[in-house]
Amino acid sequence: SNANLFAALRAAFPQDIDSVAVETDLGLRYTWRDIDRATAMMANLLGSLGLPAGARIAVQVEKSVEAMVLYLATLRAGYVFLPLNTAYQSSEIAYFIGNAEPSVVVCTGKNFGWVSKIAFTAGTSHVFTLNDDVTGSLLERAAHHSDQHAVAERGPDDLAAILYTSGTTGRSKGAMLSHRNLLSNAQTLKGYWDWQPGDVLIHALPIFHVHGLFVAIHGALLNGSKMIWLGRFDPKLVVQKLPEATVFMGVPTLYVRLLQEAGLTREAARHMRLFVAGSAPLLIETFRAWQERTGHTILERYGMSETAMLTSNPCRAEDGERRGGTVGFALPGVELRVVDDAGQPVAQGEIGGIQVRGPNVFHGYWRMPEKTAEEFTADGFFKTGDVGRIDGDGYVTIVGRSKDLIISGGYNVYPAEIEGRINELPGVAESAVVGVPHPDFGEVGVAVVIARAGARLLPEDILAALKADMANFKLPKRCFVVDELPRNAMGKVQKNLLREKYKALFA
Ligand code: ATP
Ligand code: MG
Repeated sequence: SNANLFAALRAAFPQDIDSVAVETDLGLRYTWRDIDRATAMMANLLGSLGLPAGARIAVQVEKSVEAMVLYLATLRAGYVFLPLNTAYQSSEIAYFIGNAEPSVVVCTGKNFGWVSKIAFTAGTSHVFTLNDDVTGSLLERAAHHSDQHAVAERGPDDLAAILYTSGTTGRSKGAMLSHRNLLSNAQTLKGYWDWQPGDVLIHALPIFHVHGLFVAIHGALLNGSKMIWLGRFDPKLVVQKLPEATVFMGVPTLYVRLLQEAGLTREAARHMRLFVAGSAPLLIETFRAWQERTGHTILERYGMSETAMLTSNPCRAEDGERRGGTVGFALPGVELRVVDDAGQPVAQGEIGGIQVRGPNVFHGYWRMPEKTAEEFTADGFFKTGDVGRIDGDGYVTIVGRSKDLIISGGYNVYPAEIEGRINELPGVAESAVVGVPHPDFGEVGVAVVIARAGARLLPEDILAALKADMANFKLPKRCFVVDELPRNAMGKVQKNLLREKYKALFA
């Protein structure tokens, strides 16, 4: 049978193919038949270009249903989808296109001039435009093709997508994901998150990243569920749409912004079944505030571009409670272990590097064989680069990234622990602790703190409060109160930029 992910998604379309599949914030409605026809036409267009097997289709466009159709059409035609962050500018696009050598590039009309120049220089033979108002040469060309298309035959290990990582810790790497990687994860989540007939998803995330592209879209499609589609996150609109929906997925910053809406009430959320958070740590305070305001407990999960989802708090009550501050259990089919620096499993509850194995784990980094070899163990586990622990009940807690770990005077200092303490201090909204070079200790921590609106915070008070209940070697040596933390498009704090900024403090 055909292992093409699209075949499985298509098979899950509801019987009533003329019911609404997607409804947008612009008032557009797409039935399942519309999605089927549009993907067929676009797949036929791609198929008509004479592309080589394994051709990459690189896409940097604003979010639209047509952009999702392009993703699905790429799968359907058997090519490899390669989405790019809409924030990337010319030097970044030049790097990605040069690195990925796509056969087809799709960009927004307003960028066509410079993107096409980069693409043709890199040897790309086709550049199309696609805008978020249902215009562009891609749609014009697809309109001439048949709306009948037999899904391309693909094997489970054939590539479906190359997803560049967020670049939080350095230059982005292209994670090569196969049809099996994506489908197995989508099926696991369908079961574990207990997708129900009649579920409706509010889709408010970007679609160039694992969260919005795979977790959200596959979740809805594999369940034949309608999506309420937001071109961009608008907290007022999300609150307004909640009564029509049952599932919402967001990065933590979206939850923080939703909590600022007076309209977010128990009443507004009464039909909701599930709120999912991930991509970055959810502050325990947000978790609690959400419970208080809506009566719902956010389900936090953990994953990455290389593996899709790895762990999740339980959905059904019989599977356990959702514990704030943890990312839940390893998902069914995912093996997860915590190891020390020598690669040996640590004792239960101890902190170490997180390694994973399973049908969801990627096939390596695109054109980085050495890096790929470094990040896998001899027994086939992927070194995630995240540091964490597993408690006696099996709940996993992420304490940070190994690259962010601070080694001060020979002791390991986990930034997340210090940040947790700082965040509990009155007047603190958020914090980030990074390590910087120090002549005596090798490295020391520097705390960067954001005050709550209206609060006046003094760095020396923060340091004094920490000193009162924390081992000396863990204490940040300096503290700064600033207006905001540098974040990337997924709301992740860019600690590399903070380290760079403060690197000469003790030089
Ligand atoms: P790069 O690999 O390029 O540095 P990145 O790791 O941020 O960037 P992604 O694949 O988008 O790129 O993000 C995966 C990472 O996000 C995980 O490795 C983990 O550090 C973090 N993450 C995801 N979910 C959670 C979560 N629930 N809690 C804490 N961290 C999370
Ligand atoms: Mg990463």
